Amino acid sequence: MIYLDNAATTIMLPEVLAVSNKYMTQVYGNPSSSHKYGLDAKKAVDISAKIIAKELNIEPEKLIFTSGATESNNTAILQAKWIINKRKRHFITTKVEHPSVRNCFLYLEKLGHDVTFLEVDENGLVTAENVLAAVRDNTELISIVYANNEIGTINPLPDIVNALRQAGYQGEIHTDATQALCKLAIDLKAMDLDYLSASGHKVHAPKGVGLLYTKKQKIEPFVRGGSHQDNRRAGTLNVAGIASFAKAISLLSEQRLQHENRYKELGKIIEEGIDFEALDGKMIASKANRLSNIYCLGFKHIKSEVVLNAFSAEGIMISSGSACSSTSKKLSHVVEAIKLDKEYQDGVVRVSFSVLTTKEEVEEFVRVTNRIIPRLQKVTR
Ligand code: PMP
Repeated sequence: MIYLDNAATTIMLPEVLAVSNKYMTQVYGNPSSSHKYGLDAKKAVDISAKIIAKELNIEPEKLIFTSGATESNNTAILQAKWIINKRKRHFITTKVEHPSVRNCFLYLEKLGHDVTFLEVDENGLVTAENVLAAVRDNTELISIVYANNEIGTINPLPDIVNALRQAGYQGEIHTDATQALCKLAIDLKAMDLDYLSASGHKVHAPKGVGLLYTKKQKIEPFVRGGSHQDNRRAGTLNVAGIASFAKAISLLSEQRLQHENRYKELGKIIEEGIDFEALDGKMIASKANRLSNIYCLGFKHIKSEVVLNAFSAEGIMISSGSACSSTSKKLSHVVEAIKLDKEYQDGVVRVSFSVLTTKEEVEEFVRVTNRIIPRLQKVTR
């Protein structure tokens, strides 16, 4: 089997799994308990927060552990002050956000607030000027995805944040950095964000753990209950998840540039190996500033579900755009927003690498692509 769907989720690395095992079977106390088991678990959480904080260049107290990026995004966007207070506010986001951001803003709209969903260019990107031009006196929060999960392109987030702050924007700024974490160097001292969301399972940690950076240490909890995490997020801490998230982040960050260079080489195998002309295909947003581990391909005369199933039958796992929208028959909102040529719209597939992806695997993917796409196209034509 060849797994090339790492933007959907990744395997846990053995070193990460070992950490997870330790905190599930040996140091398994509840960090809220004051006996030794509890204190040991709490220590593990505190050390993990320090490790992650160092990578993001923040103070560990500004991290909240969540159940994943979905919860982190909900926490940053659906704040009680906007839900309870009926005064009409304005929000800005883009047309290519992940559903866990997009649907929060659609909900705010339903509550009577104004939301600007910014148009993007053909690469799914916005500019500092686009964002600045949309700001109003009552803009409360701006949320811009750092790197797109379907096409892998990277917004100029530091420029956008700096331009907003220089222009005197007083509201809050959030980014969904789920795909960017460990792929880009993120320095939150250099980029004046209010919130940043990420998820463990995209970086070889387990599913069900995420983080939210909050510039203000005190925020209203989204998940209410006990006094965990300084009353900012209730619920018993997922110690094994948090400790393995920290382990994964430190492992990946140590070799970030080596991984990036390797991904670029793997990408070259796709770029040079697939006979795009013969296959009526193209690489989408290939010239834009982009993550080196996500490649989005479009083919004419074919449906992405058909391609996906055919690859699956060959033992190769890829995705049609985003895993989150792959069960719906509707055109992906990202494909729609980048105004991809109609002929390619139905045949978009995403290939994504992890630190474990090999040259041989990508070469096999290329061989299978060149062999089966023309065959599938014949059926559709
Ligand atoms: N944002 C982005 C950009 C993502 O790719 C994902 C995962 N597909 C999420 C948010 C949601 O992450 P999770 O499902 O782990 O909550």
